Amino acid sequence: QAKHLGTHGIQLHDPSMSDRRAADAQLGEDLAGASERGELHVLYQPLVDLADARPVGVEALVRWHHPRLGVVSPTRFIPIAERSGTIADIGLWVLETACRQVVEWGDLYVSVNLSPRQLPEESLVADVLGVLARTGLAPDRLCLEITESALVDESAGIAKLRALRDHGIHVAIDDFGTGYSSLHYLTRLPVDILKIDRSFVAQLDGTPEGSGITEAILRLSQVLHLKTVAEGIENAEQAAELQLLGCGIGQGYLFARPLPPADLFELLISPSRQPSSPS
Ligand code: C2E
Ligand code: MG
Ligand code: MG
Ligand code: MG
Repeated sequence: QAKHLGTHGIQLHDPSMSDRRAADAQLGEDLAGASERGELHVLYQPLVDLADARPVGVEALVRWHHPRLGVVSPTRFIPIAERSGTIADIGLWVLETACRQVVEWGDLYVSVNLSPRQLPEESLVADVLGVLARTGLAPDRLCLEITESALVDESAGIAKLRALRDHGIHVAIDDFGTGYSSLHYLTRLPVDILKIDRSFVAQLDGTPEGSGITEAILRLSQVLHLKTVAEGIENAEQAAELQLLGCGIGQGYLFARPLPPADLFELLISPSRQPSSPS
């Protein structure tokens, strides 16, 4: 039984548990004011058309340069920010930074992660519209990513997503297939895009067994008239199989890692971005 806990397994009575709690508390304190102190940065990972590998958008991914600890992963500090409530400020800071940046990048769209903790914020819709007004980004160039579990039993949150969509903003379900929402429920959600979780992409190996879940998600999105983005594409075989299965857009280390703005811009203007033959 113990072995499925893996290296990140948590044992009761483990003294490292209280160490972890103390470290979390310290990080939570350090995080207050981090954006004002210039410690937060946004990286951009291309979202590419699988037909020709050209970027059609970018996902904004936050990084924290802690003055003593160096770069702290969002998987570490976002949950802490969610518990302490600072996620609302951080989320808006990322949104505004990303929108301001992407305005400069031609017709790319930007996808920004929305924490489930931001959904109950009374001012969410006004805040997002305010960012678009200040930055001048057209609403249809913004996509908000939310996990499906965040939406279960959140009728107020769903109403806000609907309002944002009425303004032309797109909504994507992130890590699709890992949550618990029913298919019935999915048909009622105001969404445009399903992002196929990378655990399913990792299973693609050219066999029917490997592609089963991905195929099912693609069929589902067809029926519901949704677009699909595949996450975590690491090799050319996965990209080719996804394209064959009808997935439109892909994201992953095969194309590019999350990049600082200058590197992303470099990639956009590099000749290799252009298709090798006119089509
Ligand atoms: P996510 O939204 O599902 O973002 C995709 C994650 O997969 C990113 O990790 C990205 O670097 C990673 N990834 C991309 N391509 C590949 C690949 O080919 N292979 C593998 N193994 N991984 C790949 P990252 O940047 O560490 O972010 C982790 C999570 O932290 C995000 O998952 C998202 O849930 C959260 N996050 C990041 N930035 C923000 C933010 O501004 N706000 C909120 N609320 N959450 C954020
Ligand atoms: Mg995401
Ligand atoms: Mg994701
Ligand atoms: Mg994911």
